[in-house]
Amino acid sequence: MAEIVDQLADLTGLRDRDTLDVSLVSSIRDLLHPHTVAVHRVVGDAGDERWLTRAALGANDVAARADSAWADPQALPMLTDRPERLGCLQAAAEVELAGNPTTLLLPLASDTGVVGVVEIVTDQPLAQDLKRLLIGVLRIYRNVQGLLDYSERDTLTGLLNRKSFDETFYKASGVPLELPADPGQDRRHPAPAHYWLGVVDIDHFKQVNDRFGHLIGDEVLLLLSRVMRSCFRFYDQVYRFGGEEFVVLLRCTSQDDALAALERFREAVRGYLFPQVEHITVSVGFTDVRPGDTPNAAVERADKAVYFAKNHGRDQVRCHAVLVRDGLMEDQAKDGGIDLF
Ligand code: GH3
Ligand code: MG
Ligand code: MG
Repeated sequence: MAEIVDQLADLTGLRDRDTLDVSLVSSIRDLLHPHTVAVHRVVGDAGDERWLTRAALGANDVAARADSAWADPQALPMLTDRPERLGCLQAAAEVELAGNPTTLLLPLASDTGVVGVVEIVTDQPLAQDLKRLLIGVLRIYRNVQGLLDYSERDTLTGLLNRKSFDETFYKASGVPLELPADPGQDRRHPAPAHYWLGVVDIDHFKQVNDRFGHLIGDEVLLLLSRVMRSCFRFYDQVYRFGGEEFVVLLRCTSQDDALAALERFREAVRGYLFPQVEHITVSVGFTDVRPGDTPNAAVERADKAVYFAKNHGRDQVRCHAVLVRDGLMEDQAKDGGIDLF
């Protein structure tokens, strides 16, 4: 009993999603002593979704194993590659493959639906009281996730908010990353990954509000956030900073890749048919995230590139470093982090 309370206290004390999944598998291992326990989440584009293992622990493992958060989606198993997991996901119900060993799959629910499965392999099917305990632990986990979402997400769009940006940003600017090498490249020297920060501002959004009203304006914001989420990869982080300003933190190996991703997004917005409003465009500015950068300094550089785009015809993506290189802008933060729009 004391052990259970300890586990739950650990779980509910966490404020970081990454540690939450690791803590969940550790708690289940300590409570049930299974062969293995793992949390698998669904990631990737609609129609091409994959299983990403967020945390997995074997009976004798010292530390949890996980797929890299920036794994190439194509390298991850497809949903149909693990039909038993898919069955659990689709039915949103427990699936037990009884035998020796026995695999128990439980749906991992969030406030928006089933987002993954917990997979537990044991010698024998679990006794009913242990199953109940497990389901209780998963409900607590879901509540903690819900609280994290509430404090970290924007209520209109469900995107991450500014508060969570600062935290992720410091992780991004402080830790050098290595992306897995492309096939054909030398695997011993994977290309170093960088973070790129893009700021997106809707063009002439005041006119949308003026012509169609705030409610339709809000709907545009919501739909734009969906376009944004579908354009970028699951490991890119998308934020609403407030108003009609959005931010994306991209993991790419080169400036060209970042530019291509942002151009793809700009084109997608351009081609999207918004109810009543029909068409909008966006101006985008982006910058590399530098070692030791602060969120304000990086956002300010990207904002300046947006400002440049606004003054040069809108509906375009501009890179801060290119503007500086071409003598069109100074690399000095003179605006003190003030929102320019
Ligand atoms: P520009 O192309 O220069 O960006 O022109 P703009 O009209 O988009 O100018 P600006 O970015 O300064 O305008 C922001 C407008 O966005 C002002 C405000 O009416 C609207 N806005 C900000 N937040 C919200 C919101 O939450 N909902 C709605 N409907 N409108 C918002
Ligand atoms: Mg605007
Ligand atoms: Mg604006």
